[in-house]
Amino acid sequence: MLNFKLSKEQEEIVVKYRDFANKWIIPNRLKYDDLAEFPWPVVKAGYDEGIMNGQMPEKFGGHNYSLLDTSLASEELGAGCVGIGICIDANTLALTPLYLAASETQQKKYFGLINEIKGVAAYCLTEPNAGSDVQAISSTAIKKGDKYILNGHKRFITNAEVSTFLTVFALTNPEKGSRSLTAFLVPSDSPGVEFKPRLQKMGQRASVQNEIIFTDVEIPEENRIGDEGYGFIIAMKTFDRTRTGVAALSIGNARAAYEIAKDWTKNRKQFGKPIAANQAIGFMLADMATKIESARMLNWYASWAYEHDKKKINKLSAMAKLYGSDIGMEVTTDAVQAMGGDGYSTDFAVEKMMRDAKLCQIYEGTNQVQRLVISKSILKE
Ligand SMILES: Cc1cc2nc3c(=O)[nH]c(=O)nc-3n(C[C@H](O)[C@H](O)[C@H](O)COP(=O)(O)OP(=O)(O)OC[C@H]3O[C@@H](n4cnc5c(N)ncnc54)[C@H](O)[C@@H]3O)c2cc1C
Repeated sequence: MLNFKLSKEQEEIVVKYRDFANKWIIPNRLKYDDLAEFPWPVVKAGYDEGIMNGQMPEKFGGHNYSLLDTSLASEELGAGCVGIGICIDANTLALTPLYLAASETQQKKYFGLINEIKGVAAYCLTEPNAGSDVQAISSTAIKKGDKYILNGHKRFITNAEVSTFLTVFALTNPEKGSRSLTAFLVPSDSPGVEFKPRLQKMGQRASVQNEIIFTDVEIPEENRIGDEGYGFIIAMKTFDRTRTGVAALSIGNARAAYEIAKDWTKNRKQFGKPIAANQAIGFMLADMATKIESARMLNWYASWAYEHDKKKINKLSAMAKLYGSDIGMEVTTDAVQAMGGDGYSTDFAVEKMMRDAKLCQIYEGTNQVQRLVISKSILKE
């Protein structure tokens, strides 16, 4: 039997995150977009109000959220501001390899550390010559005694310069290529870790990205996550768990733009009637609402599948990310169009929402790559 009703606990998650967005994110979103600075006060408040690290096991200070719980939470963050939302969700991205494959000792140490200092972590996969093609990674971590020596170059790393620690993917045996890809925990203040100047960018400007150069960074063996050679699997399984978060941020962003456009077009009059009374605009609103509902349903299904129908998660999470971020771009663009000059101005947040939407089609695997994942999966069926 199908049941689209959220449980009482899930409804409470929605209310908690919506209240947080209303209190901390919406009043600050234009400021951080303008400053292009990491919103530390919002993240610290997130820790104080139980917003951070929802998926973390309760014994380490989290809430044991399921993927569906996480999607409900991320939609509310996205409706507040995707730029601020991704500061929080990129931390989840960096912690996911630990949820998947870290030992109890590693989890205790690093979850304890991040909670204690109310900090964030960063996920370091992408390199100058390895973007969509993860198998082209060339950073190395070569074993020397009881340590690994890390050398390499990562780029576009969200939360890098503000992070407490990094989840880094590197080859332990370059001759074996990506079959030796391995995940490591690297404290961000380790000698030999250098953060390059912040990336300047179009949208999601509250989040920060840097290139990182690793020069002879010593990583103790105990900081290896899982076995040598399991890095590629860990990286891919991480995306299976986090793509629904990107979809949810996109859907929240689309919802916020649609709500602003709906109110504005109902109130603004031209030719003696509200703009929304013109079928051209009314149909635009109808399409926006339909796209948001359908993207949300697909994302809920994909998120639910992670716990209930795992063999479908790879395909469904790619579909949810692809569709959620594509309609996010369409809906925010239409919101700007429906509001004319007011949409384009910075007086309303919709122009920012349109800028923010674009990046969701690019990070955590571009939408072309999502189509590759989906086509590979359906051709195997
Ligand atoms: C703001 C921002 C934040 C990011 N945060 C992180 C982070 O925290 N950690 C991290 O590791 N990475 C991060 N990334 C990296 C992001 O995941 C990559 O940018 C993305 O995977 C694409 O890689 P690329 O930019 O090198 O593009 P490329 O791989 O060079 O692709 C360029 C274009 O070619 C297309 N293309 C590539 N291959 C194919 C193909 N086989 N078929 C069809 N089309 C193809 C792509 O879809 C894209 O349109 C971030 C990126 C940005 C911009």
